[in-house]
Amino acid sequence: MRLFDSHCHLQDARLLPAVDDVVRRAAAAGVERMLCCGSAEDDWNDVLGASERYPAVIPALGLHPWYVAERSPKWMKMLRALLELSGASVGEIGLDHWREPVDEEAQEEAFVAQLALAAELGRPASIHCLKAWGKMMEILQTRKLPAAGMVFHSYAGPAELVAPLAELGAYFSFSGSITREGNKRGPKAVAAVPWDRLLVETDSPDLKPVIAEKAPDSPNEPANLVHVAAMVARLRGASVEEVAARTWQNAVHLFTPNA
Ligand SMILES: [Zn+2]
Repeated sequence: MRLFDSHCHLQDARLLPAVDDVVRRAAAAGVERMLCCGSAEDDWNDVLGASERYPAVIPALGLHPWYVAERSPKWMKMLRALLELSGASVGEIGLDHWREPVDEEAQEEAFVAQLALAAELGRPASIHCLKAWGKMMEILQTRKLPAAGMVFHSYAGPAELVAPLAELGAYFSFSGSITREGNKRGPKAVAAVPWDRLLVETDSPDLKPVIAEKAPDSPNEPANLVHVAAMVARLRGASVEEVAARTWQNAVHLFTPNA
């Protein structure tokens, strides 16, 4: 059984110093590919460095909504140049109206610009959306979308939005947050996603699955993906092997179509 972690951050300071071990443990746990998503200008080179060093690491570059205030005047120029050079996917981009402080206008401007860049360059986009579904739907319904695909990572929207988003071409990636007891929406959304739009991720070093919290201080890492896949399997009444096979196929189709 092999697994594709559709969203993680190996460049994060909590993982990068031990990244050799992290990648080795991922391989031992069957996690043969990982999409490593950038979040701001100052980590894009680390993302590309990890992807050059480890064949299992697939790069994505983007400006996360949490970091829009820190962007430099040349951020878009730099992003375009690195995307053209590397062939990376676009991410992590999106809208977050949950974490304070929120600058809705700047987030929207950065998101729309990066969505357009993904569409123009023919790259898929990994999208973060928290408490901003009204604005997200408005943007998706009026803008050109990346023909190579778009993924809602750690999907936290309602099950009712799965069908209209799927209609727009969206994929849905689930993380360790579905293993948390207080998560009421997640399980219903997992069950609502069509097989050909389903993905799994760790969002390492965050969102550690509850079952892996035996060492509560250690950061989450891609090797924990099997716990997410097992929970998705349980919620869909399927085998973990089927979840692994389908999500692998979907992620390869999206992120490494020419490999
Ligand atoms: Zn993330």
